[in-house]
Amino acid sequence: MDHHESWYRAVFEHSMEAVLFTAPDGLIFAANPAACHLFGRTEEELCKVGRPGLIDACSPHLTNFLAERARNGQARAELIFIRGDGSRFPGEASSEQFVNDQQEIRTILIVRDLTEHKKSERLLAESEEQYRLLVAAMEEGVTLQDENSAIIAFNKSAERILGLTADQLKGKTSFDPNWYPIHEDGSPFPGETHPVVDTLRTGLPHSNVIMGIHKPDGQLTWISINVQPIFKEGKATPYRVVATMHDITENKLANERIERLAHFDQLTGLPNRTLLNDRFRYALSLAQRNDESLAVMFIDLDHFKDINDSLGHNIGDQVLMEVARRLKASLREEDTLSRQGGDEYILILPDCDADGAALVASKLIEVVAQPCQIEQHELIVTPSVGITLYPHDGETLELLSKHADSAMYRAKNEGRNGFRFYTSEMQAHPARNLQLANMLRYALERHQLQLHYQPQLSLQDGHIVGVEALLRREHPEMGMVSPAEFIPIAESTGQIIQIGEWVLRTAARQLKDWMDSGMPPMIMAVNLSAVQFRQNNFPELVNHILDEERLPHHFLELELTEATAMDNPKAAINVIDKLHERGIRMSIDDFGTGYSSLSYLKQFNVYKLKIDQSFVRDITDDPEDRAIVTAIINMASSLGLQTIAEGVETASQLNFLRLKGCNEVQGYYFSKPLTAMLFKAFVARNKDARAAF
Ligand code: C2E
Ligand code: MG
Ligand code: MG
Repeated sequence: MDHHESWYRAVFEHSMEAVLFTAPDGLIFAANPAACHLFGRTEEELCKVGRPGLIDACSPHLTNFLAERARNGQARAELIFIRGDGSRFPGEASSEQFVNDQQEIRTILIVRDLTEHKKSERLLAESEEQYRLLVAAMEEGVTLQDENSAIIAFNKSAERILGLTADQLKGKTSFDPNWYPIHEDGSPFPGETHPVVDTLRTGLPHSNVIMGIHKPDGQLTWISINVQPIFKEGKATPYRVVATMHDITENKLANERIERLAHFDQLTGLPNRTLLNDRFRYALSLAQRNDESLAVMFIDLDHFKDINDSLGHNIGDQVLMEVARRLKASLREEDTLSRQGGDEYILILPDCDADGAALVASKLIEVVAQPCQIEQHELIVTPSVGITLYPHDGETLELLSKHADSAMYRAKNEGRNGFRFYTSEMQAHPARNLQLANMLRYALERHQLQLHYQPQLSLQDGHIVGVEALLRREHPEMGMVSPAEFIPIAESTGQIIQIGEWVLRTAARQLKDWMDSGMPPMIMAVNLSAVQFRQNNFPELVNHILDEERLPHHFLELELTEATAMDNPKAAINVIDKLHERGIRMSIDDFGTGYSSLSYLKQFNVYKLKIDQSFVRDITDDPEDRAIVTAIINMASSLGLQTIAEGVETASQLNFLRLKGCNEVQGYYFSKPLTAMLFKAFVARNKDARAAF
């Protein structure tokens, strides 16, 4: 062995790789210790089994390996090897042929154990598969984007959330002008400020950025996106980013809805009480800082209930929306109009004094009172407005709106369709309601109720055809209390049933007395409350009272307001028919204010229409009221009904009504409602006064 050979030998002996000397026929001449260790055999054993005993004949690449070696003298392949104990292991075989000094072909076979390598390869494949499954199953969308923000990988959820197909997503960048996302406030997200781009530039992550994405179908999707940078070792700028996103469109819409529900009235879109409070606090702080005043108005629609009752809620709602629109259009940007439910609106006017408030109120009343066309109805709604001023009338919204409410009631009591400023004297108002309810409780038993009587005259010859009984309550401290004030209270407490019965009986008895004492026969008209009218046994009750008082039925006329009749016209027809069967006459009171439908009116078995005094009042100078009164008279006569005008105060009103063919009149022009005694005197005098007609 020359010195070369001994060097080779040392390398051979100490090599970490398994090295074997073989002949082409598979004979093994030598194997190094690494080979013995790898195959689990001694060198002798290895030489004995030869190469075929070391390589599994079923190794997939064996044929190729041998063919290649035969062709090139060298080959490399992955084969399956057999250990001494018969177990198999994967290994890489590389073989190299050479010719020795004796001109014989020899092969060096080096075998590298691939067991560990294979294991980690398999593990890698396995974990890759797991990650793939994880990412695919994620509800969140994920994109992997390169240093130019081009998408290089993504999952199914990303396709769904972004509304793009896999082909469309691949390579798309965050700069794509057809895909510009928008900020929450609706402004565009220019490409350079896109969180993905920003993370690529700065290396800083982004979390929960909310943005809107235009899907190709035009739909706007809201997503919340997180961006995480990925760095190469030792590099400061990321070479990839991972963006995860979820679709929050539904949440966002729901939140907006909740936000709207919490702050806005659903019907009119106006701020509700909550938002009004916020706005008030803000307006108040400004007023305090600048030493300004501030007006709060309470607006309530007159007779709105009648519209709802007679035309239905749908029309009522449309009226409320129209009123809201009109009010809003007449206000400044800084004013806050809110609806409090029902037909009540509250208005805050920053930097507004009494003069300004009066001006605004008149303007609002004017715009609201313009006729409005809703479906086939032309309606006129008038508002009543109460006004309070900060700091004069109060310093909190609660107090100011409460006082504005009292002022509004005053406006209503004093003729509606107007405005009133709050005065401290009105503070007694709510207390007054309570006082009235108490008063009514005792009035009946203590015989403190009275009836006054107002004559109804024929327009033909001026003779008294009837008399209307009007309820009065004289109170030691409160003075004369108007039924317009206490009847609604009696209705709400239910006391009206007892009171109504008392009125009927007293009126019937009075007429009987008068006629018994020689007064000419006439009709006694008695007002009915809706509550009485809805009583189950009402027709029987009337019947019973008349019989007890021995007054023939045809002397009684019950006045039912148009609003009550139209509240539930079918039920009204039924009750009216029952009364009619018993010979009791009916008339429709306050006609013209209740939006009668003609088709129902025809079915009401009534005798008379009482034209509401609000039309009579302006008959001489308002062409519209003239037209309405004329129309009512003509319609009544075509339906075979009588007409009576109430609230006649002047000769010219009387002349107009006569000209139009109205049948009867009632009003201060002839007489105010009188006590029974005075009425008797009036009748006596009238016999001679008829010439005035
Ligand atoms: P109503 O039935 O329409 O009665 C007519 C009202 O007009 C009465 O008011 C009467 O005093 C008033 N009046 C009569 N002539 C004139 C006039 O020329 N000019 C003016 N400005 N007013 C005139 P009153 O007595 O205050 O009654 C108000 C309302 O209270 C009545 O309106 C009626 O709806 C109700 N009411 C009165 N008595 C009773 C009752 O016994 N039962 C029920 N349920 N309601 C009643
Ligand atoms: Mg009446
Ligand atoms: Mg009336």
